[in-house]
Amino acid sequence: MTVSYKWDKIPFHKQKEIQDKQIKGFVQNKISRYHPYYKKLMKEKNIDPYDINSVDDFIKLFPFTYKKDVAPKPDNPFVPMEFVMLDPANRMDYHPIFMISTTGRTALNTPFWYTKWDMEHILKKNTARMAEILGITPKDVVINAFPFAPHLAFWAAYYMTTPHGITGIHTGGGKIMGTQRIVDTAFATKGTVLIAVPGYSLHVLRTAQASEKYLDRIRLVFTGGDRLPKPYRNKILKMLGEMGAPDPAISAAYGFTEARMAPVECPHQTEMTGYHTSPDMELWYVIDPDTGERVGPEEPGELVWTPFQGRGTVVMNYRTGDYVEGGIRYEKCPFCGRTVPIIDSLISRVSEQKSLNLTKIKGTLVDLNNFYSILPDIPEVEEWQIVLKKENDDPFGRDELHVHTALKKSRKYRNQRKVIKDLEERIVEVMEIRPTEIHVSTLDRLTKALGMETQLKELRIMDLRPKM
Ligand SMILES: [Zn+2]
Repeated sequence: MTVSYKWDKIPFHKQKEIQDKQIKGFVQNKISRYHPYYKKLMKEKNIDPYDINSVDDFIKLFPFTYKKDVAPKPDNPFVPMEFVMLDPANRMDYHPIFMISTTGRTALNTPFWYTKWDMEHILKKNTARMAEILGITPKDVVINAFPFAPHLAFWAAYYMTTPHGITGIHTGGGKIMGTQRIVDTAFATKGTVLIAVPGYSLHVLRTAQASEKYLDRIRLVFTGGDRLPKPYRNKILKMLGEMGAPDPAISAAYGFTEARMAPVECPHQTEMTGYHTSPDMELWYVIDPDTGERVGPEEPGELVWTPFQGRGTVVMNYRTGDYVEGGIRYEKCPFCGRTVPIIDSLISRVSEQKSLNLTKIKGTLVDLNNFYSILPDIPEVEEWQIVLKKENDDPFGRDELHVHTALKKSRKYRNQRKVIKDLEERIVEVMEIRPTEIHVSTLDRLTKALGMETQLKELRIMDLRPKM
């Protein structure tokens, strides 16, 4: 190549050329030689690495990898090690030194390893790009309120700040430091950027308001680890506005541990700008989840991810289980001007579609993702939690869907009965189900039930039904 482009300004037709070269090199020189699992799989399936010379070849020939392929099994905790690259002639270079893991509450945690090379060429490089997209500079004071854990979120927030010369206060979240002390610290250090899980960021802002520690310097709220639909964004902006923060913006990350990096939105006040990917580091495409066939730009489907580099834990052609309504856009971002593939902001996790037997007749597939847009959209709803349980706790009984809410009360707001009725109608209209009961609780009780000060991530949706 005679011309070199900055990573976020590569013309789309050039990206294809670069990606073809990258995937070819990675599969032929690294994956087929040093990846224990894929090396074996390619032999078994008779896949000749020299047949993979482009992204199209790769998509056509390379099998999908699923979450369950990488996860440890009860009788074999060593499965994830089969996904850690190893060059026997070069052991030191492939030595794993840093680990993050998935956060599943039910399944065993799956570890994802970084080598020294990955720390430099994946984690530090990608987090520098995050800071760049977010416009974070040494003028900022970044309050990292992600839970302290071996999770991508906390460490990405660390690596995008402190090692890059940017002030970062890594609080560890409510469970480690307590929300009031996080607020006090953010206030005393004149924090300008708040980083947290969406639900927890609202809790921090609410705590700041209640204790009159007005966080009026916050210019950006950056979230990860959960969906951030519009009503949530509006709530965040409203609270910041009430505290006197001038023109704050919002950005969300789409982090999934398996990538060991995360695309982020360019910050905006009102628009959900979509997750900006790194075309020289990763390949994203969308498939019809039933047929596995690739779909076109901006068409809905399941996201599939592949890296172009890496040591440590590497997954290829990986089915995320995440469904994106608006697909992937291949056009210059109208907000920041970057020419990178952009994943639409509205992603729902397939794991939150649950089969419920709410009636005696049959099970219904219910998309609990909908609650994230319905509940925060009602101005009176301050907090909420969904609880699934069995009728009379009988394991063979019917399923029950309980909606718990804490409501704002003042002359400004409608009366409780009206709000509940309205909420019930919204749920019926959007989800075509009727909740068993809508409960009204105090904010304090609900905050405790959500585990804002005790859990790594709030218990927004609780499935208390026994596993059969
Ligand atoms: Zn943008």
